[in-house]
Amino acid sequence: MHTIGIDIGGTKVKYGLFAEDVLIKVGEMTTPPSEIVERLIRELRDFIGEKAIKGIGIASAGIVNARERKIKKAANIQQIVNVSLGEMLEYEFKAPVMLGNDANCAALAEAKLGAAKGTDSSICITIGTGIGGGIIYKGNVVNGRNGYGGEVGHMVVVPNGTPCGCGRSGCWERYASGTAIQQMIDQNSVLTAKKYTPNNVFKHVNEDNECKNLMNQFVDSLGNGLVNLQYIFDPDVFVVGGGVTDSSEIWWNQLTEKLSQANISINVRQAHFQNNASMIGASYLVK
Ligand SMILES: [Zn+2]
Repeated sequence: MHTIGIDIGGTKVKYGLFAEDVLIKVGEMTTPPSEIVERLIRELRDFIGEKAIKGIGIASAGIVNARERKIKKAANIQQIVNVSLGEMLEYEFKAPVMLGNDANCAALAEAKLGAAKGTDSSICITIGTGIGGGIIYKGNVVNGRNGYGGEVGHMVVVPNGTPCGCGRSGCWERYASGTAIQQMIDQNSVLTAKKYTPNNVFKHVNEDNECKNLMNQFVDSLGNGLVNLQYIFDPDVFVVGGGVTDSSEIWWNQLTEKLSQANISINVRQAHFQNNASMIGASYLVK
């Protein structure tokens, strides 16, 4: 029997066919501007063929209510918000369908097969345009009542700080994400004059003090958030991944150094998975 893992993002929908833990086939389509469910069903019919399916797990961007099996809020895929996606696919493929937030699914992949494998509790942080988070306890995702569980990027670290898309101000992701790095560059005339970007600004820390200061701020903010979470959850391990960690060889030692100065023991590891984490984790929602 096979399982299907699907990752619905704002630009792409990816799907994988799994035999137990082994990913045997991957497919993808551009997220269509309309009729996304109909298109997805057609694509999956071809993708699955005659194989018997044990279940379908779906990871989606935005706020996902796992109990109702609906996407409740997602910026770029409005058209399937509040649609009974779980029921529709279940009816079509005659197999159980489960939904989860993409960051939660990435955390599940890390806990089952990746950097947090073998641990009881882990928190996976995905640093990209924002900060996504997923909390795993004894093999399960902590979704919470409404699906907000693990949305650690929106804990306020600076009261009345930078406004955030969530409606509050001073959220962690406004200080320690790719967008935050861009904003720090934009607010610094020396850095903007040199046309630095979030992708290259850390590469100049050895010869440019402004870059060094920016990196120190980023690492401080990232570290402070991790220490906050350690005090609340005390997980066995944090897994840190996402696009911003492409430059982690430059700042990782500084982060672990900062964490070692906290009066609390913290275990951080770099993510094992990159692009397919959410899709792999989604398949575990039905295993
Ligand atoms: Zn926020």
